[in-house]
Amino acid sequence: MSTGIRIEVDHRAGGPRAGELRHPEKAHRPDQPIARKPAWIRVKAPTHPVYHETRALLREHRLVTVCEEAACPNVGECWAHRHATMMIMGETCTRACGFCNVRTGLPDALDTGEPGRVAEAVAKLGLRHVVVTSVDRDDLPDGGAAHFAATIAAIRDAAPGTTIEVLTPDFLRKPGAIEVVAAARPDVFNHNLETVPRLYPSIRPGARYYQSLRLLDEAKRLAPGIFTKSGLMVGLGEERAEMVQVMDDLRIAGVDFLTIGQYLQPTVKHAAVAEFVTPEHFAEYAALARGKGFLLVSATPLTRSSYHADADFALLRAAREAARAA
Ligand code: SF4
Repeated sequence: MSTGIRIEVDHRAGGPRAGELRHPEKAHRPDQPIARKPAWIRVKAPTHPVYHETRALLREHRLVTVCEEAACPNVGECWAHRHATMMIMGETCTRACGFCNVRTGLPDALDTGEPGRVAEAVAKLGLRHVVVTSVDRDDLPDGGAAHFAATIAAIRDAAPGTTIEVLTPDFLRKPGAIEVVAAARPDVFNHNLETVPRLYPSIRPGARYYQSLRLLDEAKRLAPGIFTKSGLMVGLGEERAEMVQVMDDLRIAGVDFLTIGQYLQPTVKHAAVAEFVTPEHFAEYAALARGKGFLLVSATPLTRSSYHADADFALLRAAREAARAA
C-alpha cells in the first residue's frame, strides 16, 4: 500500500490521464495523516511470476481492474492466483466517495468493444468465477445496466463454465436498471452498503442507504435463484449497535452473503481511519452475522468484496444445498 503521495496523481505512467489529479474535488480538504498499519494488516509486495503474467494479460486487453484502481492490498495474492476483478465502463467515476481511490470526474463514452475484451480475458485466464464491477455512471440514462448485461452475455459465450458475480453501483434514479441486470442472470448480484447509514453523508455522499438496500431486496425478488451479497467496511467510526442494525436490514432484504473488511485510507485527502479493528473483533462480527442467518459470512481485516470470491462461491452453493436439505 502507498503513502498518500503516490496516488494523488494518476499512477499509470504513460496512461491517458497520467499526472492528472485523481480527486480534484478533495484537493481543498485538509490533509488527514495516514496512520501506521498494525502488523495484522501488512502485506508483501507482489513478486510472484503469475502476478506479472496476469498484469500483462490485462494490459494486453486494455482492461481496468478495481484491484489497481482501488489500490487493494490483496493484489499480490489475488493476481498470483489469476483472480482479478474487472472494472468496466472506464476508470473515472461520477461519484466522490470519502473512502474510494477510484478517479473522480466526467467519464468517457462507453466502449462497446469492452464486453468482448473482458470475456476474452476471462477465458484466457481460465477463471472458474469472475467478479465484474464498475465505476458509477450517473451520466448514463440506465446507469450502465445494459453494459453490465452485455458483459455477462459475452462471458457466458466465451467462457460458459465460468460463474459470474456482478458488483454494481446503486442505480440511484435509474428506473428499470436493476431489472436489466437481474434479467441477464449473473450467479451473484453484489452491491456494497459500505458503511452504516449515519456515516453516509461523509463516506458515500452521493448514495442513499435505502436505495442500496432496495436494490438488494429487488434483485432477490426479481431473481430468487441468484445469490445476493453485500459488503461493509469497518474502522470508519461505526458503533457496534449500528452494525447490528445493518445486518438486520440486510437479512430483511434477503441477502445471502455478507463481507466485512477493514477500511484503509488511500490518500491524505480521504477519510481517516478511526480504528484498526482487531482480528478478534472481526471474529465477533462474523459470529454475530452467522447468528443472523446469512448463508455465508467473511469477516477479516483484509476481506474485500471480491477477495476469495471463487472459493466463497463454492461455499455459498454448498450452504444453500445444506439449508435446503435440512
Ligand atoms: S481482493 Fe478483489 S480487488 Fe483486491 S486484489 Fe483481490 S480481486 Fe482485486
